Amino acid sequence: MYNIAILPGDGIGPEVITEARKILEAVEQKYGVVMNFSEGAVGGTALDVFRTPLPEATLQLVENSDAVLFGAVGGPKWDKLETYLRPEQAILELRKQLRLYANLRPAELFPALIGASPLKNKLIQRKFDILIVRELTGGLYYGKPKGMKRVDGKLEAVDTMIYNEDQIERVAHTAFMIAQNKKKHLTSVDKANVLETSRLWRDVVERVSMNYPDVELSHMYVDNCSMQLISRPEQFDVILTENTFGDILSDEAGALTGSLGMLPSASIGDNKPFIYEPIHGSAPDIAGKGKANPIGCILSAAMMLEYSFGFHEAARKVKSAVEKALDMGYRTYDMFADAKKVVTTAEMGDIIKGFLINDD
Ligand code: NAD
Repeated sequence: MYNIAILPGDGIGPEVITEARKILEAVEQKYGVVMNFSEGAVGGTALDVFRTPLPEATLQLVENSDAVLFGAVGGPKWDKLETYLRPEQAILELRKQLRLYANLRPAELFPALIGASPLKNKLIQRKFDILIVRELTGGLYYGKPKGMKRVDGKLEAVDTMIYNEDQIERVAHTAFMIAQNKKKHLTSVDKANVLETSRLWRDVVERVSMNYPDVELSHMYVDNCSMQLISRPEQFDVILTENTFGDILSDEAGALTGSLGMLPSASIGDNKPFIYEPIHGSAPDIAGKGKANPIGCILSAAMMLEYSFGFHEAARKVKSAVEKALDMGYRTYDMFADAKKVVTTAEMGDIIKGFLINDD
């Protein structure tokens, strides 16, 4: 039996979570596994009731679970609060408490959505399927010193980019192991022509690569990578990179797939539970209207099946059910441009569930 903590959050979070849960329940039915779902309050809705975006009860629920499915948090109602009360703090705090150091962001172009990609069709030679492994705990976002002060009458600000070899080594192992299960090609992205942290990054990644002779390693400067993602995305399999570069490149790669609502993610570490969540926010502009695309959350649930439970077959079938729904022309409102059959959030969940249940 698998204990799954469900944290719906705010805005469209509960709507997309409902559909992802529907799919996990179909997996239970199809494969005879038992999943025990428990819901916890998080984000603005938790703040309104418990005065904190991450109540102690939710943290306990998460710590006792095997995996966490997270919706989205935030909204205009809470935008002006102090940082520590902002709903978005909940996800940062969760990642910290659970010591999750690798963020996995797939960017996969489904053939049915080629027309929705901002790339010209002639640039999309083949279907691409990229997985970006971003280091989550180090680099510019956390390095000290950090701050702003007045020097000689002028404001001056500093951020520090810092990495130690342990931080690089553990995320490199994660990326190599993932590459072993994909097309066995790893591109490590850095700026080793300018940055000391990148020179260390490259040395450590080279060292770790000795343990994975079946994976082909190449290095690429981050500026070149941002260009190559647009001009030849199909060349990439797994991309490994540090925190800031990963933040930017994963958004760029995601945009190439056509819709923000399609994109899943996982945050993983050495010990369970890991967190799975769509990359989009709470989309207050469409909340409650049945317009949210649940596929990012459904594919996050598929990542949970794969990375937390090792149900590769079930994960593959969920992805294939999504692909079938898209191939048949079903679209939610965010993919309206080339839509043949526009459906609501719940209808899309039902359609994908139908394809999953009936797929032998
Ligand atoms: P957003 O991702 O919520 O929305 C951006 C745009 O994309 C909106 O037009 C929205 O309607 C659309 N969109 C997003 N997800 C969609 C989906 N599944 N289906 C259809 N359309 C979708 O980003 P934002 O507007 O910048 O932020 C809104 C709130 O979400 C803010 O409070 C922000 O801080 C928060 N946020 C939370 C997370 C998180 O919970 N991990 C991530 C990003 C933003």
